[in-house]
Amino acid sequence: MSIYDYVIIGAGSSGSALAGRLATNKNSKILLLEAGPKDYNPYIKLPIGYGKLFYDQSVNWKYYTEPEENLHGKKMYWPRGKVLGGSSSINAMVFARGSRNDFDEWGAHASGWSWQDIEPFFRKMETWRGKSDQSRGQSGPVRVTDVSTQAHPLTDCFLEATEQIGISKNPDYNTGNIEGSFVYQTNTHKGLRSSASNAYLSTIKKQKNLVVITRALVKKILFEGARAIGVEYSHKGNPIVVHATKEIILSAGALGSPQLLQISGIGPAEKLKDLNIKVLSDLPDVGLHLKDHIGLDHTLLTNQPSLNQLLRPLSGKIKVALQYLFFRNGPLSMSLNQGGGFVKSNPTLDVPDLQLYFSPLSYSTAPYGRRPLMMPDPYPAVRLGFSLCKPTSEGSISIQSVDSSVPPKFFGNYLSTRYDQKTMISGMKLMRKLSATKALKKIIHTEMSPGKDVKSDADLLEYARLNGETVFHQCGTCRMGDNPANSVVDGKLKVRGVYGLRIADASIFPTIPSGNINAPSIMVGEKAAELILQENK
Ligand SMILES: Cc1cc2nc3c(=O)[nH]c(=O)nc-3n(C[C@H](O)[C@H](O)[C@H](O)COP(=O)(O)OP(=O)(O)OC[C@H]3O[C@@H](n4cnc5c(N)ncnc54)[C@H](O)[C@@H]3O)c2cc1C
Repeated sequence: MSIYDYVIIGAGSSGSALAGRLATNKNSKILLLEAGPKDYNPYIKLPIGYGKLFYDQSVNWKYYTEPEENLHGKKMYWPRGKVLGGSSSINAMVFARGSRNDFDEWGAHASGWSWQDIEPFFRKMETWRGKSDQSRGQSGPVRVTDVSTQAHPLTDCFLEATEQIGISKNPDYNTGNIEGSFVYQTNTHKGLRSSASNAYLSTIKKQKNLVVITRALVKKILFEGARAIGVEYSHKGNPIVVHATKEIILSAGALGSPQLLQISGIGPAEKLKDLNIKVLSDLPDVGLHLKDHIGLDHTLLTNQPSLNQLLRPLSGKIKVALQYLFFRNGPLSMSLNQGGGFVKSNPTLDVPDLQLYFSPLSYSTAPYGRRPLMMPDPYPAVRLGFSLCKPTSEGSISIQSVDSSVPPKFFGNYLSTRYDQKTMISGMKLMRKLSATKALKKIIHTEMSPGKDVKSDADLLEYARLNGETVFHQCGTCRMGDNPANSVVDGKLKVRGVYGLRIADASIFPTIPSGNINAPSIMVGEKAAELILQENK
C-alpha cells in the first residue's frame, strides 16, 4: 500500500496551487489525485479554444442542474473542468481578484481572511505583465497579461460608452478597488493560457516528492475513528487505497468537495442515514449555501463587421491563425470577454452590484457532429452583458448515491430572491442605457435580443427567467467560518468534527466575491499551503 504525508484530491485551481507550494518542502511526500486526464488537449493552451472545450466531455464534467423553479424549469448547464488544472484549464481566463470589501467580508466570517491577510497571496501567485505597481506581483507562477492594446475597435466603443454614462476608466481593477470600466486582464502568457496546472505543476514535474496521478476518480475518504487516514480511488477500473500520515486535503471544487464529504459520512445526518452512510460528523451546511453569479447578454446587431466576420469565414480563420502563429497575438490569443467593468446600478450604493462584459462578437451553440459547439454568428454583432456581483439566492448539492461517479443533484435556485430579480432588471436597464450612448449608438443597427418588445419591468424579468445564464462561479458549499454552528471548515480550513482533513477550493468561500473566482480559488490554494507548511515546520 502507498503511504504519503499528504494526499490532495483534485488538481484544479486550488489543488494545483496547493500541491505546487507544498512540494517546495522536499521532505514531504505528496500525492495529487485528479479524475480527469493530463492537460495535453491543444485547445486548453489556445485561449480561443474555450469554445471547443465548453462541451467537450473528455475534459469537462458537463453537469446540469435540476429544473430551476424560477427559470421556468430550465436546467442550467454547468461545465466544470475534469482535467489537470480543473476549471482553470477550460475557463475564459478573465483574471480578477475581487474587491477589498469582498475579502473584508470574508474576514468578518473567519479570522485571518480579510483583504489585508490575503492580499499578499494574490501578489505571490502572479507575474503581472502590465504597468508596474507595488500592489501587483512580479515573480509568481500565474502569468497575467494586460491585453488592452490588442482590444478590438468595437471594445473601444464600449469603453467610450461607459464614460459617457459617468463610469470612469479604472487603470487596474486588481488592486482592491474594482469600480470602473476596463479591458479585462487575462491569465495568459505570450498568447497561451496560464492555467493553475501550467503555473504550479509543469515546473516541478521532475520533483520526486510530488506524485500526480490522473484519471484517478476518488471514491471516498477513509477514517479510523474521527481521523482521516486515507483515500480510496479508482484508476483504470481498479480500486486503490492510499494512506496519508499527516493530512488529506479536499480540493475537488465547489461541486466535488461536498459530494465526497457526504459520501464519506460528513454532512446532514438525516440525509446521510437515508443513504445508509455512517455519520462521522453531522454538518448540516455541507452542500448548502451554493452561490453563483447569474448574468445575461444583450445581442446587438452592428452596422460594421465584428469579430464574427473574422472568426467565421475560412479566409478570416486563416488570417487570424497566421497572425497567431507568427506573432502570438490577435483574436485567437484573447478571451471572448474583452471589455469589462464593475458598476453601481444606483449611485446611492456603497459598492458595485453589477459586473459588465463586452465581447466584440456574438455566438450561438450549433450542433457539430454529436456534440454542440460554440460558433460565431454569420451576421455582424456583439454581446453586451452583465452579472450580479452579490446574488442572494442560494442553491444546494445533494448526493443521490454513495458512488462518486453518479452526479449529485444540483440546485442553482437562481433568481429566487426579490433582490436578485430587481438587480437583474436594473442590469438590463443599464445595458439599454449603454446602448443608447453616442459611442454605441453609432455602431448598433438593432438590439436583436432582448428586442424591442421586451419593455416593462415584468417583460424584463420574464426575459431574464428564460435567458439568464450562469457565469460558472459556483462556490460556498462547504463554507468557512469561525462559528461552528454554521460553517463546515474553520479559518485554518479544517473540517469540523474530524481530524486530518482540510478543504481548499471554492467550496470554502464564506461569501461570493464580486467578480470572477479563479484567482480567489488559487489564492485559497496558496494560503492553504502556507497554513499547512507553518503548522508542520
Ligand atoms: C466555462 C467556465 C468559464 C469560467 N471563466 C472564468 C473566468 O474567465 N475567470 C475566472 O476567474 N473564473 C472563471 N471560471 C470559474 C473558475 O475557473 C472556477 O471557479 C475555479 O477554477 C474553481 O477552482 P476550484 O479549485 O475550486 O475547482 P476546479 O478548478 O473545478 O477543480 C476541481 C478539480 O477536482 C477534480 N475532481 C472533482 N471530483 C473529483 C474526484 N471525485 N476525484 C478526483 N478528482 C476530482 C476535478 O476534475 C477538478 O480538476 C469559469 C469556469 C468555467 C467552468
